[in-house]
Amino acid sequence: MLTLTLAPGKDKRLLAGHPWIYRTEIAHIDGDPSPGAVALVKDQRGRVLGQAMLNVRSQIAGRLLSRTEEPIDESFVERRIREALAREGRSSRGPDACRLVFGEGDHLPGLILDRYGDLVAMQILTAGMERLRDTIVRVVRRIVEPRAIYERSDASVRKLEGLDLRTGFAWGSGETGVWVREGDLHFFVEVARGQKTGFFLDQRENRQLVKRLARGREILDCFCYSGGFSVSAAGGGAASVLGVDISDESLSWAAQYADRNALGACCTFASANAFDHLRALGREGRAFGMIVLDPPAFTKGRDALAGALRGYNEINLRAMKLLSPGGILVTCSCSYHVDTPVFLDMLRAAAADARREFRLLEIRTQARDHPILLAAKETQYLKCVILEAAN
Ligand code: SAH
Repeated sequence: MLTLTLAPGKDKRLLAGHPWIYRTEIAHIDGDPSPGAVALVKDQRGRVLGQAMLNVRSQIAGRLLSRTEEPIDESFVERRIREALAREGRSSRGPDACRLVFGEGDHLPGLILDRYGDLVAMQILTAGMERLRDTIVRVVRRIVEPRAIYERSDASVRKLEGLDLRTGFAWGSGETGVWVREGDLHFFVEVARGQKTGFFLDQRENRQLVKRLARGREILDCFCYSGGFSVSAAGGGAASVLGVDISDESLSWAAQYADRNALGACCTFASANAFDHLRALGREGRAFGMIVLDPPAFTKGRDALAGALRGYNEINLRAMKLLSPGGILVTCSCSYHVDTPVFLDMLRAAAADARREFRLLEIRTQARDHPILLAAKETQYLKCVILEAAN
């Protein structure tokens, strides 16, 4: 059997519950470590720590799949997916949208499964999961019974694993655009062409908060994509909503959401660079009762951190200046490398530059169907901070 032996002292992170083995932590591998093969993981004394999917061409050379010596077969995959489905915030039936499997957070490293009504979107990110692809498709068909499974394995991290990008139906056929429901609101998700797997499921609970706080306020939603926050705010009784994004196709979906929910009269969408638009709104002397900032990750690596922080600082400073007294800023970052303390420091600096005082109402994170492993901080990537302008 393929066996990986860890270098002395390199078992600590695994024993603490973290699933990754870095290339530099391996003492030796016995057997053929072809990409994605499952290896028995041992410490220096030969004690078995579990089984990991290997890919020695990646920095993350091993991802723990199991902490025992059990067979990695179809019944293993089925059990893991059933366990994931039983966790908070998920349902495998009905018109709702949710994440069914969140990779490492569900002990299935490199696998994302999202359900949008009767359609499942699948994303495979590692060579190990790639080997289990057919098994996963069979298990999902059996226990979720979707109309189709659409694959969105087009994330660039696949290249680090030596995998090509792939999109298309993994099983089934039909429409790739579906209407889903979130509370009393309807959203259109285009699984084939949308960002990520089509919709930002990770913001669900934050959208609900925006909906609760929106009543009577004039709302600015920057980087609005298909208008998830915009339409939620309108549904919560906002006086008006302005959504801004650089992608025209996203804005056409946003307008569709607003109309379908009979909220079109309250919503305006503008195609613009949010940096420029925030500046222009400032020049016009506009003011808003709530501003949502949910930009794309400004950095994927540690090296570009300083530039990313300048970007966050600029949009937050401009938004802070545009808030009316008592106004609320909902400010997000999905850059893993910008952690919560760094993000809060950036907000403090921006508030000082804006000469505004804020109350920190809440520090929030990704929706519960994106489970976070306490031992693996990489599984927590979304920060959503709620501030209230005190003056
Ligand atoms: N808030 C959205 C998700 C935002 S994703 C939701 O909850 O659904 C980030 C969005 O930022 C994308 O739609 C992308 O088109 C947009 N974007 C990227 N750079 C931008 C820029 N400079 N100005 C405006 N929008 C931008």
